[in-house]
Amino acid sequence: MEKYDIIGYPRLVRLNPNIPWKTRGNGAISIQVGKDGKKKIKIGEINGKDIVSSLELTHDLEKSDNKKIKNIVKEIVEKNARIEDENTNPGFVILKDQPDGETYKKSVTQIVTISEIKSFLNSIGADFEGYKNCRGLIGATSAIAWSPLLDRTYELISYRQQRRWGTKRDVDSKSVKKMDTSCKTTFDNYDYENKHNRLVPNSPCPILYGIRGDDVKDLVKASSIVESEPVDSWLIFETNQGTDDHLQKKNIADVQSYQSVIVKGSIVQNPYTIDGGHVIFTIKDTTGTIDCAAYEPTKEFRNVIRNLCMGDVVEAYGGIREQPLTVNIEKIHVEHLTTIVEKIENPVCPNCGKHMKSKGMDQGYKCKICGTKSDKPIVREKKRIIHTGFYEVPVCARRHLSKPLKRMYR
Ligand SMILES: [Zn+2]
Repeated sequence: MEKYDIIGYPRLVRLNPNIPWKTRGNGAISIQVGKDGKKKIKIGEINGKDIVSSLELTHDLEKSDNKKIKNIVKEIVEKNARIEDENTNPGFVILKDQPDGETYKKSVTQIVTISEIKSFLNSIGADFEGYKNCRGLIGATSAIAWSPLLDRTYELISYRQQRRWGTKRDVDSKSVKKMDTSCKTTFDNYDYENKHNRLVPNSPCPILYGIRGDDVKDLVKASSIVESEPVDSWLIFETNQGTDDHLQKKNIADVQSYQSVIVKGSIVQNPYTIDGGHVIFTIKDTTGTIDCAAYEPTKEFRNVIRNLCMGDVVEAYGGIREQPLTVNIEKIHVEHLTTIVEKIENPVCPNCGKHMKSKGMDQGYKCKICGTKSDKPIVREKKRIIHTGFYEVPVCARRHLSKPLKRMYR
């Protein structure tokens, strides 16, 4: 079988997180390959063997290479894909040139149909193959179309020995905390408040853990700190995780189901808690109103939200569910806090110097001696517990694509 070099890092690309029929993480993988690569670097280990990648291409592939590459990919997909799983609809795409960024942008922010992607692939003369309903073609195409030029992060993924697949993972939380504090360019490692080790997936997949970060060297160091069951193999991916690529700034009236948006407005309905512990409030801009929600899984983030009140101006970042249109908040920028006043005592009569008496709920006040009326009690400004600035959901509730505040202030 012909051998090809991997160019750069394999790419792990996350797509629209609000698609109801998505696979768990809505991720896709792309790999660039060539021949006679130069400047080789180590990007992983499989079966004790170093996996190297070339940073530069010596020369381009021939058209005839397409068929050879297709055979290699086809064999791997057909051998490894869990075709029998009803949600597994794999697909692969081989392209000589990267499609324009619009293809990626659409798949990370909106809904792309299978027929749309097939006609696109046909129009550019792509080599591709889809299995079952062929939905995998959407991810495959988009993963090739993503460019890491604007923003990107890395993830070091380590894999379990096959005999352990499906069993409980052994990854020591104490070592994860140690890694978290000593490798500053990593993120979303450990949730201290909720005691949640975010490195470890919940599904029974072959992944042991994934460490996300901005710096490849730091990731390798980080994985040497994490203590776990034996690592079978590991590989570093370049990814769009933690980039906020899924978000679009929108007027409230333009918000649609399944999008992820940034909407700005003033709060017109105070936060309130509904059954299940979800906290809801309503914001308004010049085009309309929309509900925003901090759902129960966002834990202590809900307490931040509860401190907001009518008149505050916020920018909410989050995904939109199908119905009703509600922003599932991933993070929030509190731009302006309104002044809240609280009554401390009844007004004093300007003639008699005595406190007036209340005439009843919302009825104002009246001096018992001279009859002078007032509707203004003595007030003071209430101290707000919340400050302006950004707040984000805890690590345990973080979405793959959400940019952690840690990355925003860098
Ligand atoms: Zn009086």
